[in-house]
Amino acid sequence: LVVLGIETSCDDTAVAVVRSNGEILSQVISSQSELLARYGGVAPKMAEEAHSLVIDQVVEEALDKANLTANNLSAVAVTIGPGLSLCLRVGVRKARKLAGAFNLPIIGVHHMEAHALVARIIEHDLHFPFLALLISGGHNLLVLARDLGHYIQLGTTIDDAIGEAYDKTAKWLALDLRKSGGPALEELAKEGNAQAVKFSTPMKQHKDCNFSYAGLKTQVRLAIESRNINPEIPISAASIQERSSRADIAASFQRIAVLHLEERCERAIDWARKIDPSIKHLVVSGGVASNKYVRSRLYTVVEKNDLKLVCPPPNLCTDNGVMVAWTGIEHFRMGRFDPPPPADEPEDFVYDLRPRWPLGEEYAEGRSEAR
Ligand code: ATP
Ligand code: FE
Repeated sequence: LVVLGIETSCDDTAVAVVRSNGEILSQVISSQSELLARYGGVAPKMAEEAHSLVIDQVVEEALDKANLTANNLSAVAVTIGPGLSLCLRVGVRKARKLAGAFNLPIIGVHHMEAHALVARIIEHDLHFPFLALLISGGHNLLVLARDLGHYIQLGTTIDDAIGEAYDKTAKWLALDLRKSGGPALEELAKEGNAQAVKFSTPMKQHKDCNFSYAGLKTQVRLAIESRNINPEIPISAASIQERSSRADIAASFQRIAVLHLEERCERAIDWARKIDPSIKHLVVSGGVASNKYVRSRLYTVVEKNDLKLVCPPPNLCTDNGVMVAWTGIEHFRMGRFDPPPPADEPEDFVYDLRPRWPLGEEYAEGRSEAR
């Protein structure tokens, strides 16, 4: 099997061609980071236009790099949610055009399931069931993956995701946002003292597996204000003292943001083992999982609990086409796909887009365990 995967749920236009043995034949990403840096966030209409401008070219390049034509494909996979519907539509339209023209089956993919399952490309003995921590710009999920397409949600964020907190902190510290905020903040944090600013860990009193990052964001903003840090002055122009003060905030923020992950993972391991004692792995994926400090802290958690950590390489943690193609392959093998769309599908056809789409069911007993 050879599947082409298309990802346009947020700000990256990503396409990849993957073989069912896990071999990545090609991977192309067109990133909107310039736009992001200029406007300080994703504006859906602008992101849609950017996707539309490059999608044909990105698909073509992915096929070229794989040395294939669309005739060689077995199927097309595409993210149908969750995400920005204007953006999802661009990917789905392209996927259906391609599938229609070459008579290929099509697989609609859940973006967060894809973040989790891509780990199975790199770790061959990663079998179900396993625990997954999915940390990105819009999600903060702890799920027990029982089987393909069968997930139990142990925890989610009650407000912001950790990636959002990294991005805002980076913006307020006036870091260079040409890349995204997360990597810039991780870099600066290396220079700082993680004990310098006393932030409190979120949700200490809640004995569940949920997350909250809005309060930590507020604590960071107050710390920045009380230290008279001027976000108009870019970090590159800051004095040595000012830079070290910003680095202290970055390091202290990162320590608490990640401590919150550690505490929730500890509890989630207990909960998951009550549901299914046979779990052997913790998968950590999503953009924030490319952070080295995050990886090293979670490594100590799995060591202590006799599990194995599976963390995809950074370029498979952030949004990419490989995870979509791979998740397509997994579903296709189980016979879950849609027949080829008609080649002459009208432009105004109503697509199955799922901008809000929970991954699995909530763990109902969680509420009573939390008491
Ligand atoms: P979602 O997956 O929730 O829909 P998304 O697709 O926009 O959100 P991803 O590409 O999976 O998100 O992840 C992007 C997020 O990861 C951003 O918030 C970014 O700052 C963060 N991120 C990327 N690299 C790092 C890093 N090294 N350290 C911390 N955060 C990082
Ligand atoms: Fe993502």
